[in-house]
Formats: sequence, C-alpha cells, structure tokens
Amino acid sequence: MDHFLFACVKINNFLKSTEIVYVIIEVGDSMTRFTDNQKGSSHFFGDYKKARILDYEQMNEHLDQLKICQEHQEIGTTTFGYPIRYFTYGHGPNHVILTAGTHAVELITNCFLIHFMEYLEKYPETIDQDTYTLHFIPILNPEGTIVLTSAIRTVIPRTTSPFWEELFCIQYYMNAKVEDSYVLENQNQEDKLQMWMFRYATPDCIDDKHKNLKKSIARIIEKQKLPRGVMAQWSSNGVGIDLNANVWNPRYEKEVLMGKPVYHELRLNQISMTSPGPVGCPFRLPEFQLEPENKALFHFYETLIEKENVLGSFIYHACGNLIYYIDHPNDSYNRIVAQTYQKYTGYQVLSKQRPTTVDYVLKKRLKGTLLIELGNIRATPLSQFVDSIDSVYSHIMEDNTKAIIETIKTMKIQIHNYQKN
Ligand SMILES: [Zn+2]
Repeated sequence: MDHFLFACVKINNFLKSTEIVYVIIEVGDSMTRFTDNQKGSSHFFGDYKKARILDYEQMNEHLDQLKICQEHQEIGTTTFGYPIRYFTYGHGPNHVILTAGTHAVELITNCFLIHFMEYLEKYPETIDQDTYTLHFIPILNPEGTIVLTSAIRTVIPRTTSPFWEELFCIQYYMNAKVEDSYVLENQNQEDKLQMWMFRYATPDCIDDKHKNLKKSIARIIEKQKLPRGVMAQWSSNGVGIDLNANVWNPRYEKEVLMGKPVYHELRLNQISMTSPGPVGCPFRLPEFQLEPENKALFHFYETLIEKENVLGSFIYHACGNLIYYIDHPNDSYNRIVAQTYQKYTGYQVLSKQRPTTVDYVLKKRLKGTLLIELGNIRATPLSQFVDSIDSVYSHIMEDNTKAIIETIKTMKIQIHNYQKN
C-alpha cells in the first residue's frame, strides 16, 4: 500500500517548544474510515472527538433542539425571505444582546454563539435565569452563511472526520500564510491559494431550494468577474452588500456611486469593495439604503432599549483577539466592561475605531456594547477551527464562555453605579 509522510509542527504549550511530528497517511484513505486519536494520545494536540464546522442547515438543526433557550418570532427576514432567528435565555430584569455572523466568512462566531447557547442548556446554573435575560441572534446574515458554508462543504463534506477537518483547516491556514507574504513583499494581486482550494465551489454547489439566492450569487460573480473560489470568502449578504459597511454616510460612498474600484487588503486584494461582492460594498445602487438585515437589527435594539434595562451587547466578529469599546472620559462603565471581558480572554482592549460601521452605531447607541474579534490566527473562515496550533479553537470556545458569564455580572453591578450618578 502506498503511503506518504505528512509532517506537521507540534507546539507544546507547556514546554513552549515546537517539534516536527510525522504522521503516516495512506494514499487514497477514505476520510470516513480514518479513526481519530483520543485527546492525549494523538500526534496532534487538540480534541478531535467532534466535528467543529457547522453549515447553515446544521446550525438550524442545533437551534431547533434547544429547550431552555426560547425561540421567538424572527427579528426580520432577508431579501430572499430567510428568517433572522431570535432566542432568549432566562427572564430576569437585566438584559444583554449577543449577535454573531454579521460577516458570514467569520463562521467561528456563529459556531461559538450556538456552542454557548448549548452550554447554557447543559449548565443552566451558570447564569441565573431570574436575574438575566440573554437575547441571542446567532445567524445575523443567513444568506451569506448559506453561500459560505455551501462552498466549504465542497471540500469538507459533513462526512469528514474531525481529524481530517483539522488537516483541511491547517492547509487553509498555511495557504493563507504563504499568500499574505507574497502580498506584503510583492504587492501580488493574483489568485490566492486558499481561495483556489475552493475553485470548484461555484454557485452550483448551493442547493436548489435556495434558487433565488443562487441566481443572485451567480449574477454577482459573473458581472464582477470575481475570482474562482470566491464563495469561500463570502462576508456579504445574498445581494453582495457588506452588512457592517451598510451604514449612513458610508465609507467609499462616492466611489460606489461613480463605479470606481477600491481594492481590499491582503488575502482579498484582488477584489473591489465598491461593487456588490463578497466584502466591503456598503449599499446597492442607485442610492444608499439600509439592507433588511440591518433594518431588523436596529429595530430590535431600539425596541428592547425602550422597553427594558439593557446592560449592553456583545457583537462577535473574527479575527484578532481584540475587544473594541467606546471610551467616555467621564464615565468608566464601558471601559470596566471591556476590561472584565479582557480578564478572561487575554484579548487586547481598543477604543479607537472606524465610525463608518454598523457596529460603531450600535456601540454609540447602547452603553456596554463590545465588538469582540475571536481568534489570534489569520484567515477566516477556516483557521479559527484549528486546534493543534496554540489550541486556537478550544481557547475561543472556553475563554469566551467564561468571559460572558463573568462580564454580565460586572455589568449588573456597574450599571447601578452608573445610573446613580
Ligand atoms: Zn467582521
């Protein structure tokens, strides 16, 4: 039987050392037949008992099974009629909002929030249901998530074992690392290896039940002559608008109206942000309008803030291991909240940020709002699922779970001080 040698770097977290490990993989080995090693006896560090990537349908299956988290009427629907699902946990007077997946490519955020909801179902004693009400919007951009995860499933089907899933994610990460260095050294704008991995992910890989969405994506890719594999980079919604950039007086407004291309950076530097596509485009022509996802989100925030005592919100993005908050010189609430979250994650706290984003508008509107960038590893959507390097995945899941639980306690105490003043 043919074999080849797969070399990988094992990072020993305890000894702070690295070593090369060789794993023998049979050529033509089926991914379903491969038996994973148990944690501890594995050649790789990490827990490979369960697959980590969820596609859109699986996310909904997980959400359907929740019992303690209650589902309510969706906060709105997208252009192509997908519901933006909404859940609450608890019924206490202190309210907190948690959202994920503004940018579809930041898939780890959806997976984290769903994981966190499942954690609460399993350990309901960790957050007192009589004290808090948590409001979850785990898939803010359903259309983008369908596009992105359909593309991912062309290379990593559901039958992939967790260990192979890890290898694909490492391959993606390494490809992105190579390409970023070409961009930095040579301003290279050619096709990117990590995108090329997904070159057979054409709109055909989107299931026919999403007919209108599928047609829209096909039209955008053709019209903008987007590179092959671009669906695996999809941040925007189904009409190619970046939901975070879709804000009044947006960045590049003039260029969008004039049809003048402005290229993105690094791994997306061959893609323009001023026409509908995977990333950056702030609105559809002929003139600025809010996308239905954002109309629904703003309406949701306004209604809740008017009715209830809302302590703040956590908006999840990836990546960078960063916490953005708005600093007020005479009011330390936001800073204390951000620093509490930092205490349990080690993420860097930043108060400088670009005002032309939806997240910024929400931070301005609601005190105690943090934008949290998950993961200290480059290249969404797959690198954040890697666990053998630096336990990236485990850290994201475990540290942020702890951080939410502790930060809402601080919010509850501190909001009192603030309201008294
Ligand atoms: Zn983002």
